[in-house]
Amino acid sequence: MISFAASISRPNFMRKVYLDSAATTQMRPEVIEKMTEVMQLSYGNPSSTHAYGRSAKSYIENARKTVAKYLNVTASEIVFTSGGTEADNLALNSAVRDLGVKRIITSKIEHHAVLYTVNQLQQCYDIEVEYVNLKDCGSIDLDHLVTLMQSSDEKTLVSLMHVNNEVGNILDLQKVGELCHQNGALFHSDTVQSIGHYEIDLQNTPVDFTAVSAHKFHGPKGVGFAYVRKNSGLKPLIFGGEQERGYRAGTESVHNIVGLAEALQISYDNLATEKPYTEGLKTYFMEQLEKEIPGVKFNGGCSNLVDSTYTLVNVCLPVSNDKAAMLLFQLDLNGIACSKGSACQSGSDKGSHVLNAILSEEDLNKPSVRFSFSSFNTKEELDYVVGVLKQFTEN
Ligand code: PLP
Repeated sequence: MISFAASISRPNFMRKVYLDSAATTQMRPEVIEKMTEVMQLSYGNPSSTHAYGRSAKSYIENARKTVAKYLNVTASEIVFTSGGTEADNLALNSAVRDLGVKRIITSKIEHHAVLYTVNQLQQCYDIEVEYVNLKDCGSIDLDHLVTLMQSSDEKTLVSLMHVNNEVGNILDLQKVGELCHQNGALFHSDTVQSIGHYEIDLQNTPVDFTAVSAHKFHGPKGVGFAYVRKNSGLKPLIFGGEQERGYRAGTESVHNIVGLAEALQISYDNLATEKPYTEGLKTYFMEQLEKEIPGVKFNGGCSNLVDSTYTLVNVCLPVSNDKAAMLLFQLDLNGIACSKGSACQSGSDKGSHVLNAILSEEDLNKPSVRFSFSSFNTKEELDYVVGVLKQFTEN
């Protein structure tokens, strides 16, 4: 008898398809070029007062102005960080420690940068934590959110992500922000999967704090920023020097900050062409999967392009549990990079906390895979992936 693994056609070692852009994106060549220029020409410490230092400092401040311009905020509201995780930590920690927040309302499908931080705060400060109910497909139950906000007089922070990194569900930031402010709550949103992919006028969105990460929009890893609304009273998490106007001590990573701004600028300048192109890839991929693999399902709100991001699809394959373990292995052997749940969990056996919160018992027993796209992908690559998946489900 031929084993299942052996029955899959020989992998094509020449072929490589990257469909894991929600984990991290390929850097744009223009961004690498700009960063290289900064590393070569402007290696001074931005805190030094000599010409080398002033040059580095001006690169940072120009980057801050670029970011502020694209998000319609003032430059002083941008605090550069080591990435999205630190920006989430900054807002949540300081809200509890410095702003008198005694209660956090969040959801079970947030990124661990929020969930684990909230757990930690609960242990350290004995704050109250409430989880808002999820509706079908994992969307946030806004009626329940309002009920929760109105059920206590304690100072409350709501932390709900804009675009879910595993299933792509989009939160109506405007509506949730208005509800929060009408009910006297502060609003923090993890916008790591949306900034750079959607135009957001932060000034006119009722959100107090957001977290952003450059490597999700073709920029470098290890850099991001927190948007901190003016006069919010937020205080630093990291102490030391006076960098970032005292909000975040430590010598700035000048080349990374410049790379972030360059990547953000290109993403927004190209959005009018790259967004429809990438959305076309997602639609095409879903159509081909439905055509070739009867019984395939799309998790969360993936099928709805209004309520779900155009950058990813989370696919539940109609195969038995015993084959599930082989799936990522087979895809990898065939040169296909994608993700089981979220990349931040790879190496752990716990499964996805997001899928655990929203899928039925039956669907949890089938393999689910997240494919995420960028404008660097092609339909031809997707045809190849559909072919490999089809073969896998039929064998
Ligand atoms: N928040 C979300 C929604 C993410 O997808 C990620 C990264 O996977 C993060 C936060 C963490 O960002 P960073 O890798 O920049 O720390």
